Amino acid sequence: MSRSVLVTGGNRGIGLAVAHAFAEAGDRVALTYRTGEPPQAATRLGCLAVTCDVTDADQVERAYKEVEAAHGPVEVLVANAGITRDRLLMRMADQDFAEVLDTNVMGVFRVVKRAAGEMVEARRGRIVLISSVVGLLGAAGQANYAASKAGLVGFARSVARELGSRGVTCNVVAPGFVETDMTKALNDKQRAAMLSKVPLGRSAQAAEVAAAVRFLASEDAAYISGAVLPVDGGLGMGH
Ligand code: NDP
Repeated sequence: MSRSVLVTGGNRGIGLAVAHAFAEAGDRVALTYRTGEPPQAATRLGCLAVTCDVTDADQVERAYKEVEAAHGPVEVLVANAGITRDRLLMRMADQDFAEVLDTNVMGVFRVVKRAAGEMVEARRGRIVLISSVVGLLGAAGQANYAASKAGLVGFARSVARELGSRGVTCNVVAPGFVETDMTKALNDKQRAAMLSKVPLGRSAQAAEVAAAVRFLASEDAAYISGAVLPVDGGLGMGH
């Protein structure tokens, strides 16, 4: 059965791969982008592209209205939009910390809160948050990012407890090293150091993360809620 799916930050990277995976399965997919023209990939995949900066509550509201008018209430929400502002702790400005928290945690809070009402009413819904192995392991230079991604675990588990009795699940996917623009910024030395710690010895393709997201939103995952599913080649094992 076709569902109304919303993916934040769906114009590139992991979000685009997630949108692709749901569209391929026949769902009605909306993805968000922040500026400029709607991403060409959205047209190619038959997805609805809506503008939305998750740090802006009005834009979140407008995006939901647009999605609801076109596809009906959101039944599957993938909160994927995220940023990094890497700096060692002693050089990290308040703004570096605040911006990351505002996008990665408050942004997730805004979109999940807006989706929850309709899901509770429908007595069904799937929420998947994109965290990171870094939220569990920590990483030098990423205290802000790690705090934000760890925060999502507590947030998801609270939402899972609040909404579980209404048939709504809330889960977290924690990717490791995925080939996207976010990781292109790493130099060869950083890349090699990171990969040397991954038991599978390679990075992930965005589609491999998308497959895990799709699983958690599927009927097969109906009894999974409050879980953290690592997609990290074994990097975070034991955490
Ligand atoms: P990219 O940098 O390639 O894409 C980030 C996406 O988030 C873009 O679509 C971007 O939009 C969007 N975005 C950023 N800020 C906002 C905002 N304020 N409002 C709306 N959209 C926003 O990153 P990835 O695809 O690699 O990452 C996707 C998610 O996966 C992130 O949450 C990231 O933390 C997480 N992750 C990534 C890993 C990796 O190795 N790549 C590993 C673990 C987790 P725009 O194009 O407008 O900038």
